[in-house]
Amino acid sequence: MKTVPAFDLSAVDAPLADDLAKAARTVIDSGWYVLGHQVEAFESEFSRYTGAAHTIGLASGLDALVLTLRAWKAQGRLKDGDGVVVAANAYIACILAITENRLRPILVEPDPLTFNLSEAGLRSALAQKPKAVMAVHLYGQLCPMPELLAVCEDEGLLLLEDCAQAHGALLGSQQAGTFGHAAGFSFYPTKNLGALGDGGAVITTDDDLAKLLRSLRNYGSERKYVNTHQGINSRLDEMQAAFLRVKLPLLDEQNAARRHIATRYLNEIRNPAIVLPTLRAEEKSHVWHLFVIRSEARNHLALHLQECGVQTAIHYPVPPHRQECYHEDLKGHVLPLTEALHDEVLSLPMSPALTDAQVEQVIAAANAFDAATLTQQVAHG
Ligand SMILES: *Cc1c(COP(=O)(O)O)cnc(C)c1O
Repeated sequence: MKTVPAFDLSAVDAPLADDLAKAARTVIDSGWYVLGHQVEAFESEFSRYTGAAHTIGLASGLDALVLTLRAWKAQGRLKDGDGVVVAANAYIACILAITENRLRPILVEPDPLTFNLSEAGLRSALAQKPKAVMAVHLYGQLCPMPELLAVCEDEGLLLLEDCAQAHGALLGSQQAGTFGHAAGFSFYPTKNLGALGDGGAVITTDDDLAKLLRSLRNYGSERKYVNTHQGINSRLDEMQAAFLRVKLPLLDEQNAARRHIATRYLNEIRNPAIVLPTLRAEEKSHVWHLFVIRSEARNHLALHLQECGVQTAIHYPVPPHRQECYHEDLKGHVLPLTEALHDEVLSLPMSPALTDAQVEQVIAAANAFDAATLTQQVAHG
C-alpha cells in the first residue's frame, strides 16, 4: 500500500519544471535580481487577477501583515497599544504581526463551523474599543466579509484581510483581499499560490498606503540614499517573482482541482466520529488550502489513518495564547472553544495533484475508522 502524503509539493511543481527553469534562466540572463522587471510584471499581473489597484511584492506573508500595520501607524491611523480584533485560533503570524507593532491583540472565539471570525465575534469585541480588525480567511474559506465590513464602517475600524491561505477565493466575482482596506498574501511554497522560496504581497486600492509600503519594504526610501521612513528590507526577489508568473495562470485551475477533491470528501466521508468542515457561502468562497475535519478522537483517528497509509497534519496543535512566547502577554485569556479546536482538528491530504485513487484511499480509510473499538483497544492495551 502506497502512502498518501498530507501535501506533496514536488507533485505540484514537477510538471512545471521546464517552465520554472526557463523563468530562472531569464532572470539569470538579465543579471538583475532585486526589484526589477519580474517583480513589476508580477505585481501588475496579480493586480489584474485580484482587481486591486496596487500589489506590493514583499519578502513574506508575515511581512505583509507587519508592514501594513506599521504603515497605518506611520500614517497616524493606529498608535501604540491600539486593539486589533483577530480570531484566537488564527496562525501565529497573525498575532506576531500585531504584537511586533506594539498593538494589542483582541482575541475572540471563532465561528465553530467555519473556524473564522464571525460578525457576532467581532461585535463581542467592540467593548474593548478596537481600532482595527484582522480577518484571517483560515484554511481557504472567506470570512463573512460584507458583514464584517459593515461593522468596521459603522465603528470606523481599519480592516486588514489575511489571504495567506485564500488566494483566488471569491464571493460573487469579488476576489479575496479586495473587501477590506488592505490584504496580506503569502507565497510560501505550500500555499495555493506558492513560490519556490519565501515571498508575500499586500494588495490595496489605497494609493497613499501603497506608496508607503513600497518605501517601507526598501529601507523607507523612494529614492536611493533618501530615507523618509525607518523602513526594513522586505523585497520580493526577481527569481521568486518570475516563478510566481509561471504559476499564477494555473491558480484557478488548481483551486478547482482542490474544490473537486473537497466535494468528494464532503459527499463520501460518512463517519459519526468525524465532523466535516462547513461551507458557509457559495462554492467558490472556499479554495480549500486545507481540508480540516474535527474529531473528539483526533489522535486515535490520525493513528488509524497513518496505519491505512494516509498522512495527516494538525493546523495547529497549540493556540497562540498558549504559546510560550505569549505566556506573559496573553496568559489571562480563557478561550475554551479555541482550545477544544486545537485538540480536535485534523487536516486530511489536500493538493491539486492528488489522484482519484489517492482520494478514494483517504475516503475509505476515514470511513473505516471505528472510534468505539479503538477506545476499547487503547483501554485494554
Ligand atoms: C502562511 C501564513 C502566514 C505567513 O506567511 P509567511 O509567508 O510564511 O510569512 C500568515 N498568515 C497565515 C494565515 C498563513 O497561513
